[in-house]
Amino acid sequence: MASMMKHQLEACKKHVNKFAAFVQRNSNMPFTSKHKLRIVVDGQTSGVNKLYMAAMKMLLGVRTTTPNSLCQIEIGIPELKTTLLKRQEAFLRKFRQKSAGDEPLAHALNLVQREGMGQHLTDAAETVGDTELASLESIRRQCRQKAADGATRYQTYLEMNPDLCVHSIYENKEEYVPDSRRIAATRFRLSSHRLLVETGRWSRIPLENRVCACDATSVQDETHVVLYCARTAHLRALLTPPLNSVVDVFALSNNVIANLCQDILNVFY
Ligand SMILES: [Zn+2]
Repeated sequence: MASMMKHQLEACKKHVNKFAAFVQRNSNMPFTSKHKLRIVVDGQTSGVNKLYMAAMKMLLGVRTTTPNSLCQIEIGIPELKTTLLKRQEAFLRKFRQKSAGDEPLAHALNLVQREGMGQHLTDAAETVGDTELASLESIRRQCRQKAADGATRYQTYLEMNPDLCVHSIYENKEEYVPDSRRIAATRFRLSSHRLLVETGRWSRIPLENRVCACDATSVQDETHVVLYCARTAHLRALLTPPLNSVVDVFALSNNVIANLCQDILNVFY
């Protein structure tokens, strides 16, 4: 059993690698199209979930260490197990509506139930409400709780996305943004950048010492580089109306957002 699982994971890993190569080759493909290329998985092990999360981060263009929950909120992806549960539920419901009860599958389902292996099938068949929506709501609640408990990464994310909603930059509705530039906006929102506030974590420099070279006093964080940094003043000067807070960036038009995030982050590379 374990070796079979290992074999499946290896096969899935190959798919993820192929997917990575595909994403790299098609870096200008719109995000919405990439997003539709969900990886087909047929298990619910943590190994598969890890691969699923890895694929999600690859799509987003962020570091693997970016918290899963923030990536899921960013693009509105619930936990994998709830997606699978929802699909199984839909399948079983449809089958039971149409089934006369004498098909091989009906017998097989009954057998599984009788043998006490049916817990999962029962879960799927008795699910009420939208499990995916409930999962996302729970992820959002946890994010707010972590921020309230003082986790700076979650506080920073809430500053940029106070409603925890999916930004229109991930949809094609308003205006097309090439995915290579959309990634800069995503990296900015998910702190997957090289500003000192983030890189200082890695070398355990105290927060108050992660200061910007422009004044050797201000912490080099998202708010500083957007609103106050002398090194980005030339980029701010081009914007009308002027920005009052970091969240104002994401009220601009999608292409302006993407360009601004890319230009700002380039200053600090
Ligand atoms: Zn500065």
